[in-house]
Amino acid sequence: MSIQSFQAPQRTLMGPGPSDVSSRVLLAMAKPTIGHLDPAFVGMMESLKELLQYAMQTKNALTLPISGPGSTGMEACFVNLIEPGNKVIICENGVFGGRMKENVIRCGGEPIMVSDEWGQAVDPNKVEAALQAHPDAKALAFVHAETSTGAQSDAQLLCSLAQKAGVLSIVDAVTSLGGTPLKVDEWGVDAVYSGSQKCLSCVPGLSPVSFSECAQGVIKGRSTKVQSWFLDMNLVMGYWGSGTKRAYHHTAPINSLYALHESLVMLQEEGLENSWARHAQHHQALRAGLEAMGLRFIVPEAARLPQLNSVTVPDGIDEAAVRKRLLNDYQLEIGAGLGPLAGKIWRIGLMGYAANKKNVLFCLNSLESVLIDLGTPLSGGAAVKAALAEYSE
Ligand SMILES: *Cc1c(COP(=O)(O)O)cnc(C)c1O
Repeated sequence: MSIQSFQAPQRTLMGPGPSDVSSRVLLAMAKPTIGHLDPAFVGMMESLKELLQYAMQTKNALTLPISGPGSTGMEACFVNLIEPGNKVIICENGVFGGRMKENVIRCGGEPIMVSDEWGQAVDPNKVEAALQAHPDAKALAFVHAETSTGAQSDAQLLCSLAQKAGVLSIVDAVTSLGGTPLKVDEWGVDAVYSGSQKCLSCVPGLSPVSFSECAQGVIKGRSTKVQSWFLDMNLVMGYWGSGTKRAYHHTAPINSLYALHESLVMLQEEGLENSWARHAQHHQALRAGLEAMGLRFIVPEAARLPQLNSVTVPDGIDEAAVRKRLLNDYQLEIGAGLGPLAGKIWRIGLMGYAANKKNVLFCLNSLESVLIDLGTPLSGGAAVKAALAEYSE
């Protein structure tokens, strides 16, 4: 056997995640691996928690990265808060609401579904009606930024409805964190989870979570054990908790945590508000260019996520062939549609480090060239021109 080292191609990642990772973050990963109870490492963990509190705008003591991708953060929220027999109102307007339902069922809970069309924001009126119809519900769960469609829901309003009804709020902020405003304390979010590889532009495999005082009380007061040993926050706290006394729970992904630390330092340097504004600015330029090519957004303007742009594929175009050409000829990755939107849309991500002018112009130019090559009657250069006009406004 003489298998060679793996050579990863240099791509530009403009899909639904992972997003481009800055060399600062990649270099942070190459620092020496140290023990997971080394005092130097414990110090790093403390500042990591503080950086996450800033990114999520919370003072919650129970704020930390779960060792696993966004899906483990989702699972951590449900297994810790939901006990057998608990009713959970779940909003479904894309792929990830369906996964929440599956989590609740596996916890022995009863999901009450509030459905909206894919591409639409969650309808607060339906949520209010569901909360009234189920006064015994324990929690309301929804996706802030639906990455499968590019729709953003009004998390502040939905959390206020949950508070008024006296139920816990569980929020999926995997794609919103760092890209659009997320204010955990101000909005009264009880449990929130995110991911490292979307607008934080870190390597995949970590899931920041945060639990309010109220949620922590619910976790401590459970009448049954958390069904997952690994995700039981009562045990995880023994390792991540405050103070110097730390017990072995699992071996933390040391070098990946260096990477998350660095990506959050970068976010802090830029400033949260500036990061949100940057995502919005580049989205406007990308939108102008895509529309100049005749591509239509599937999400109504008011609910559009700047970091995830879903546009319809022109008639007669094989969407997979276009993505293949972009990857092979331009080293550019964009995303396909999922579920009912498969084959019908492209999902173009502008997440974190990838949300910049160079990427916007490169993506527009590449996509336009491929579409012209495949026979679409477009005038070359129009997309970039429209984006540049938007930038100069
Ligand atoms: C990506 C994503 C997830 C899952 O994250 P993984 O890191 O892939 O496990 C969950 N929710 C939303 C909204 C996402 O975009």
